[in-house]
Amino acid sequence: MAEHAGFCFGVKRAVKMAFDAVGSHSKNVHTLGPLIHNPQVVGRLAEAGVKKVDALSEISEGVVILRSHGVSSPQVIADAEAAGLTAIDATCPFVTNAQRFARQLVDEGYHVVMVGDRHHPETLSVVGHAGGEILVTEDFIEIKKWLNRFPKKRVGVISQTTQTFKKFSEIVTQCLQICEEVKVFNTICYATEERQDAAKKIATGVQAMVVVGGRNSANTTHLADICRDEAISVYHIETADEVDEGWFVGVQKVGVTAGASTPDWIIQEVVDRLQKIA
Ligand code: SF4
Repeated sequence: MAEHAGFCFGVKRAVKMAFDAVGSHSKNVHTLGPLIHNPQVVGRLAEAGVKKVDALSEISEGVVILRSHGVSSPQVIADAEAAGLTAIDATCPFVTNAQRFARQLVDEGYHVVMVGDRHHPETLSVVGHAGGEILVTEDFIEIKKWLNRFPKKRVGVISQTTQTFKKFSEIVTQCLQICEEVKVFNTICYATEERQDAAKKIATGVQAMVVVGGRNSANTTHLADICRDEAISVYHIETADEVDEGWFVGVQKVGVTAGASTPDWIIQEVVDRLQKIA
């Protein structure tokens, strides 16, 4: 088992806020989008009475919880309050930090690049809070083309919190080669780095890795990619039911890790299933 795996600080905090809200408001508790990127946890929240909605207009009264990845713009909280709803902001403090640095770089006149996936809710929330144009990409060629539009190449670089340090530093180094000035804020969160380092460490000593977490979870997908770099068999699963005995023919040692949005109970079920196979 990787030394660091499963629920991170931000996800634990958001899930606790949601269950607490059900405890104190008993009904009419909603999340705007899925609270975290784990379908099984979202399912348990639904069983407890937390309803997922896609827009504020779907809620007539009660509580709206803003998810750990943040919301698309600061206006969302104002709109919720104007509609008479109680807004509970479960945005992870690390995401709030990235939003703040993005805004600072825009205000200081830098052309801002965020190294990440432009379709991910977290990057959308950072872009929405920045108050100016931001290029979100993992492709340096795209950055180079984009920068050609500007006479002065003063660039600010931040990262999606779940980005690998390798990719982030690669892009920063490439920017340094073509820009007059580069200002960098390392917005990768420590929970992500810890899980990535622990996954790499364990993957070097096994023949197969099982990576547990939502298929829609960026940090779980990155963990699987890091393990694949070790040229071993890697299986990204969401639940123990997906474990296939056939994967482990001739395998002596299997490593297990899990993304930051994967709860302990799912990890334990996977470990139990693997131990039964052994
Ligand atoms: S992975 Fe990091 S940034 Fe994302 S929710 Fe967890 S602690 Fe926050």
